[in-house]
Amino acid sequence: MAATAAEHIPTDLCALRGVGPALAEKLNRLHVYQPEDLLFLLPQRYEDRTRLTPIGGLLPGNSAVVEGEIELTEIVYRRRRSLLCRISDGTGSLTLRFFYFSRAQQAGLERGGRIRCYGSARPGPAGKEMVHPEYRLLKSPVHEPLEECLTPVYPTTEGVQQTRLRRLIGQTLDAWLGEARDYLKSELTAVETLEKLPALAACLEYLHRPPPGADLAALSAGRHPCQRRLALEELLAHHLSLRLIRDRLRAESAHALPIDHELRQRFIESLGFKLTAGQTRALEDIDRDLAQTHPMSRLVQGDVGCGKTVVAAAAALNAIGQGCQVAIMAPTELLAEQHRESFFAWLDPFGIRVTWLTGSLRKNPRNKALAEIATGEAQVIVGTHALFQEGVDYHKLGLVIVDEQHRFGVHQRLKLMEKAGVDVRPHQLVMTATPIPRTLAMTLYADMDTSQIRELPPGRQPIRTVAIAETRRDEVIERVRQACLGGRRAYWVCPLIEESEALPSQAAESTHAMLTEVLEGIEVGLMHGRMSPEQKERTMKRFARGHLSVLVATTVIEVGVDVPEATLMIIENAERMGLSQLHQLRGRVGRGPGESACVLLYRSPLSDMARERLEALRKSNDGFELAQKDLELRGPGEVLGTRQTGMLQLRVADLIRDADLAAPVQSLGQRLLQEKPAAVRAIIERWIGGAERFGKV
Ligand code: ADP
Ligand code: MG
Repeated sequence: MAATAAEHIPTDLCALRGVGPALAEKLNRLHVYQPEDLLFLLPQRYEDRTRLTPIGGLLPGNSAVVEGEIELTEIVYRRRRSLLCRISDGTGSLTLRFFYFSRAQQAGLERGGRIRCYGSARPGPAGKEMVHPEYRLLKSPVHEPLEECLTPVYPTTEGVQQTRLRRLIGQTLDAWLGEARDYLKSELTAVETLEKLPALAACLEYLHRPPPGADLAALSAGRHPCQRRLALEELLAHHLSLRLIRDRLRAESAHALPIDHELRQRFIESLGFKLTAGQTRALEDIDRDLAQTHPMSRLVQGDVGCGKTVVAAAAALNAIGQGCQVAIMAPTELLAEQHRESFFAWLDPFGIRVTWLTGSLRKNPRNKALAEIATGEAQVIVGTHALFQEGVDYHKLGLVIVDEQHRFGVHQRLKLMEKAGVDVRPHQLVMTATPIPRTLAMTLYADMDTSQIRELPPGRQPIRTVAIAETRRDEVIERVRQACLGGRRAYWVCPLIEESEALPSQAAESTHAMLTEVLEGIEVGLMHGRMSPEQKERTMKRFARGHLSVLVATTVIEVGVDVPEATLMIIENAERMGLSQLHQLRGRVGRGPGESACVLLYRSPLSDMARERLEALRKSNDGFELAQKDLELRGPGEVLGTRQTGMLQLRVADLIRDADLAAPVQSLGQRLLQEKPAAVRAIIERWIGGAERFGKV
């Protein structure tokens, strides 16, 4: 059977030359606990110092090595005191600019001396310049060699500089590269969908020391086969750890919560609507799980507005019918508040006690809530992450419901699970409106079974979606005015809260001021992420009750707030947002009987990609389809993936970019779990660290 990780690599960092306990501790901050970890601390980017670039050929924004003769060094006082050093190599000249410098430094940059620098050129007041380049004086005329490999740039931490890290990693590579175990060597060939990927040692060598001429474009895009090999292993590590969590949960026991048919019947009859086929199916899945004596772990995926909450409420009755408590956790106070209202409205008529617990509760109500929870008087407890904090003792916690899963990490969920006590676990129901594609879901949520609700309740008017250039803003404002005068309400969403130089986004604050002015007689409110939860809630309530007709907001309204009278959604800078996000925002309207519209305001010119995205949104109303499209259309460098993954922190892999690895990850995972349990542990250990992730459950 496979041995534990690398028999020959020492496990103590102090085995490295130049590393003592103090440095070892600093390295820990980079998740480096043993020498092998250094091999997996991968460069964030590379610098090409293997070639000299003629000064005349320097491109602005590109980093390069240049060499030249110093023509002039002087201190200038324009605006800011700086040291300027002018060099030339016969193809052109370049100014080196230093804002911080010593007298010795100035003296060293003597006219006639030869200098080699590395930096990024930019246009300056007198031709090309480099600000604070790295440089070295050359003892001409002896030729000094350039670097042989591309220079890796590692993530650093205080007290561990780049050069030191490079040396330590170099030392580890030289001494132990061959000892790093390749757990996938024989497995990789068995996965048909996968291209041929290099062996582990070759990948590590290449990524730490890419040869001159290496494909920098592929490397910086993260698409080099050597990176893919590691990304695969990293995703596999996460997948496997989730699979282990799942297996452990299956082995635990839970209270069986079969349906109380009479209670269920009365509840369904009280609703005033009929469950959709999707809701019924999801509920059947849940009922089947809940009747078991081991904990359910189920994810319900469904588009905004498909009615996940009522499914959760029906499931809650199973627990209550068996004398168990139910905890419902939402990621924001506002959303928790909405759940409290829904659950109260649905369950209070049955004499069920719904209790509220969030971090912002004052001492007395908090103590009262805690007491109710501890005695079991509280049957349904709705709140935020405050639900799993110290001092919250449950009475007989049978079911945990978590809404908007992607905002919580696996850990947070597990923490709530532990609240039930040591010998029984609560069942776990997770709801998400993020319709991530199936392959990704199976990798990311490998600890859960999934149910999907793919239709909306009947009678919903489809939302008309139009894309309009922001130059026609006046028309849009007019439309908002007409809607509000007709008794309807509108959202106006702006991505940022303050004017920012970095993004030409329209800020919520200035839009709010503008709309307040032009929409005379119409109440316009403002809501953004920097407001306190109480302020947000107050504003949202005023909008829900109709005291405000227009709500200008950042994307904070994205999560599950329900106002049926709101029929108009304006989204600024729509071209900058991901499809799934736009789709979720759009889902805030169309919740009542009136016809609803979504206006996507964009700034011209639109890139092809942005155009295609807006077009996709106009054409489709299906979150799953759009999520798939989101994957396909994702531009380089966009971070659409991070939000969807909650706390999952990845070092090499990128869930969107590497989505095609999901299928091989699953088949590899299956093989390893069946055939090589020791390798499973070693891979998890290598990428995630053992104790943190799978020690506890
Ligand atoms: P989401 O899945 O986005 O959380 P909600 O649970 O908030 O959706 O449901 C949206 C709205 O639809 C709520 O007002 C809810 O009461 C209503 N609803 C849920 N199911 C049905 C149904 N089968 N028929 C009609 N309305 C429904
Ligand atoms: Mg919801």
